[in-house]
Amino acid sequence: MDRTIYMDYQATTPCDKRVLEQMLPYFCEKFGNPHSSSHSMGREAKLAVEHARQQIAKLINASDSESIVFTSGATESNNLALQGVVRFYGDRANRSKIIVSNIEHKCVLETCYTLAKDGGFELIYAPVEKNGLVDLNFLDEHIDEKTLLVSVMAVNNEIGTIQPIDAISAMCRQRGVLFHCDAAQAVGKIPVDASMVDLMSISGHKIYGPKGIGALYVRRKPRLRLSPIFYGGGQERGVRSGTLATPLCVGIGAACELAGKEMADENARLNRFKEFFITQIMQNLEKTYLNGDPDKRIPGCLNFSFEGVEGEAIMLGLPDLCISSGSACTSEILEPSYVLRAVSAREDLAHSSVRIGLGRFTTEEEVKYAVGRIIEVVTRLRSMSPLWR
Ligand SMILES: *Cc1c(COP(=O)(O)O)cnc(C)c1O
Repeated sequence: MDRTIYMDYQATTPCDKRVLEQMLPYFCEKFGNPHSSSHSMGREAKLAVEHARQQIAKLINASDSESIVFTSGATESNNLALQGVVRFYGDRANRSKIIVSNIEHKCVLETCYTLAKDGGFELIYAPVEKNGLVDLNFLDEHIDEKTLLVSVMAVNNEIGTIQPIDAISAMCRQRGVLFHCDAAQAVGKIPVDASMVDLMSISGHKIYGPKGIGALYVRRKPRLRLSPIFYGGGQERGVRSGTLATPLCVGIGAACELAGKEMADENARLNRFKEFFITQIMQNLEKTYLNGDPDKRIPGCLNFSFEGVEGEAIMLGLPDLCISSGSACTSEILEPSYVLRAVSAREDLAHSSVRIGLGRFTTEEEVKYAVGRIIEVVTRLRSMSPLWR
């Protein structure tokens, strides 16, 4: 194959052309400000934005589209959820603990770290088991009447593991604790249920929508309050000021609707690719490990550790294959990712990992080619390594 093959669907996805089609009229023709209710062009844009809100609400089983707040992406949604809750309820609730899993995305970890440092909160990191699933016994012990907020992601972006959101939800409910879920890697890929959580973060560009748009589900009944991060015109019910980007809102809405329609077929296809990938790699390369739980994972995210070779070296040997070692945000630093460290049996295996992301536009031909090339490169690198021999 003499072209680039994209297998990094956890870092981002291409915008589906069917999504782009629906966005295009809202750039140059239907360009009204959705907050200008006094004239028809404003109302036209507003209708489009409200339709998108309903499309998102439907996909995540939110009863009310008003529970959806548009943001610039999951980073902002996570910041708004965590900062918003702590700043609104922090000193009212007499609860001073925040609990997060230790494999959350950086934007959750860094936000909580800063809130704890500046606000005198106690931040507790819940460990994960070697399969990448959060330790429920630890959560059961630590979620108590002093806890304000728990944040656990639905699906991990590096190892694809699906967390037991129902069980965590039950623990939080029982103890009156707020539960935020970063569902950027779950929405559109597996069924998610907003009624299990108080806050849920979504990203457009992880689900074949455009970059620069996301959403935050905020529970309405009973109403959960948030302090805003930005101040201004009071759009999005005062929670997120600023003019909404109508084309991007239309895009994330369309992406949600498509994902809901195609989820079952897409997963069936990706499951076949996943089985083929794992079987081939395991049969042809000894001392290779699949990171994350073998079953409780999304099919499009594979993460292997190849003993005796550096993940970076594998990537350098495969310039036509877009895969990643570590996560996109930290891969400029040659340090094993904290997620791999948390789930690897040994430090060297955390350095030896690559993530392969399959998605909507991955073909069988690409999967076969990638498998063959990875086996070839790992075998060659091992044959040159004194450590391996
Ligand atoms: C990509 C991602 C984010 C950040 O989303 P953006 O929309 O790029 O800001 C947050 N959490 C997870 C789990 C992600 O995969």
